[in-house]
Amino acid sequence: MGAALATCGVRIEHATAIGALFSGIADGDAEELILEVVSTAADDSRGVRPSGFKEAQQLQVNKLSTESGFEALSLRYSEAVRATWPDDYRFQASKRSWRASIAFAPDKAYVLQMATRAEERSEDAVKWDLEDAKSAGSYAHRFNLYSREHAREAGEAVDELPCVKVAAPVACRVVKTSFPALLPVGAYCTLWPYSDPEVRKFVFNGCQDFVELAQAFFHHSAFSSNGKELVCDIQGVEEEDGSLLLIDPCLLRPSKLTVGALLKGAAKEEKEREDLAVCLGPVVNVAADKFDMLHPKCTSLCKAFDPKRCTVKRKVGVCGLDISCGLARH
Ligand SMILES: [Zn+2]
Repeated sequence: MGAALATCGVRIEHATAIGALFSGIADGDAEELILEVVSTAADDSRGVRPSGFKEAQQLQVNKLSTESGFEALSLRYSEAVRATWPDDYRFQASKRSWRASIAFAPDKAYVLQMATRAEERSEDAVKWDLEDAKSAGSYAHRFNLYSREHAREAGEAVDELPCVKVAAPVACRVVKTSFPALLPVGAYCTLWPYSDPEVRKFVFNGCQDFVELAQAFFHHSAFSSNGKELVCDIQGVEEEDGSLLLIDPCLLRPSKLTVGALLKGAAKEEKEREDLAVCLGPVVNVAADKFDMLHPKCTSLCKAFDPKRCTVKRKVGVCGLDISCGLARH
């Protein structure tokens, strides 16, 4: 941290003491950071909490700080974790995260994420960040609708039913910066409407406490995608009413899988490898084992939509050969 900051000319003693990269105009410092919003595509989903920003809007960052509470955001990028996920940008490109305040909305806080590697700070890359948030938001919307309907049928009050929302990031381009090493001009990043200073993992690697709402959402997302997609790395904050606000979830999609990723699990015979490659269609092939680990038991809500818990396991590949690919175990 100290070395990185030294290279971009920030006063180290100041930054180390309070964890702030800079405190901008609030302290009368000369340092500044201005972002231009280039896409709000993630707002186009009914299960997201929108950013409130508009495309082409310029945002002056007033304050930027590292937060120990954001450690969870970077766990996905540890070597051990990356080795277990597909070889694609969303699972592999490590990012730095800061808490940011924006002059336009001083009463709120945001999370600014920038890829660590320069080649991943591109417009094409951040589109995937928005796409995953938007898709997760769509699954959240479906889940919330189902949850309300289920409660209504059970004669329960639905007005204050906790729900799942996904923070909708905007894609931004740096247009002015005092931190060319970390946040260079022209680089693309994401800005998430997320005010809480902590991010908690809900469904990540099977070691998390069992949070009913998060677990039911995890199962329902697999169910409502017909077993084709899985919302992974479910993290965020539990709000006062019990609702969850998620940040930076990852979508495990068939199109993003690679054979190499599939084979990182157990060693397979050559014939089985060929069958696996043919069965790349449904994400469930790689997710089948993960599903049980991440979702060790069902919630009462799960039992209403998938009582036999067969969403993932029953699905077959595009080849239709659930037996020959050897992964569709019961
Ligand atoms: Zn379940």
